[in-house]
Amino acid sequence: MNRLVVLGSVNADHVLRVPHFPRPGETLTGHSYQVVPGGKGANQAVAAARLGAEVSFIARIGDDAIGQQMKAGFAKDGIDVSAVELDERLPTGIAIIYVSDEGENSIGISAEANGALSPAVVKVHETMIADAHTLLLQLEVPLESVQEAARLARSHGTRVVLNPAPARPLSAELLGLVDLITPNQTEAELLTGIKVTDEASAREAAKRFHEMGITDVMITLGSQGVYCSNGKQQQLIPGFRVKAVDTTAAGDTFNGALLAAELAGADFHDAVRFAHGAAALSVTRFGAQSSIPGKQEVDAFLQ
Ligand code: ADP
Repeated sequence: MNRLVVLGSVNADHVLRVPHFPRPGETLTGHSYQVVPGGKGANQAVAAARLGAEVSFIARIGDDAIGQQMKAGFAKDGIDVSAVELDERLPTGIAIIYVSDEGENSIGISAEANGALSPAVVKVHETMIADAHTLLLQLEVPLESVQEAARLARSHGTRVVLNPAPARPLSAELLGLVDLITPNQTEAELLTGIKVTDEASAREAAKRFHEMGITDVMITLGSQGVYCSNGKQQQLIPGFRVKAVDTTAAGDTFNGALLAAELAGADFHDAVRFAHGAAALSVTRFGAQSSIPGKQEVDAFLQ
């Protein structure tokens, strides 16, 4: 009954560290090359599972070594992978990431098997969605599939949480199916037209989301924390001060941790505190899934 279903992307992140970004026509030798598990869906499923939730993951990978390896990794994190399906035609989704010595990154992605997670595939997993307490969605799989999943969840009384990342314009129909939306500043601006920089502008953006029919709004503001509104009560809840070395997957960790805490019965404030703690720990480390802490570590950090 308290199960979380995450529906979303799986990417193999090919990370090359370079002195500077290669210019057109330039061939550059990097310092190090790694292939690491990524994709927003996978990151959020892993975060929720490591942080104590019972998680089922609906996703599509290629029938290739890296896809199989990542699927095995999800299972090792305790995720139910029965709905992580193999696509026989397409490879696993990929991201090609340059990280420069200044710490900036430049990323190209290709959906590959994620793009074949169609509404028909989503429909196959209707029972899984119906039986869950909460469905967590992002935007790295086809939008019509995100909408189909939200529609099915709504029709069965499953709570719909949308982390609208990466930023993409969305239909009023899809937004109207969402119970909780968790954009960062860029995504909030794209969806509401309001430039979110502080508490006052976050309040305006949250108001717009409420007008779209969304009950709960949590706009993450990086190191400033998160602005929360349920239409009646609003507040900016600051995060923890840490030395950030890599903010990749901060939002993914925040989302997974928040829902893991809520599903374990934490009240709203404790759940946000837990999510801030988990996300703060993740920004002190390099990487996406490799930077996501476990529950005991977060509990120790919060003491
Ligand atoms: P995204 O990674 O989706 O862009 P944000 O940057 O808004 O999301 O960060 C999400 C959450 O991660 C924040 O609400 C906060 O809890 C945590 N966080 C992000 N950056 C920092 C930071 N520099 N220091 C501490 N916590 C951070």
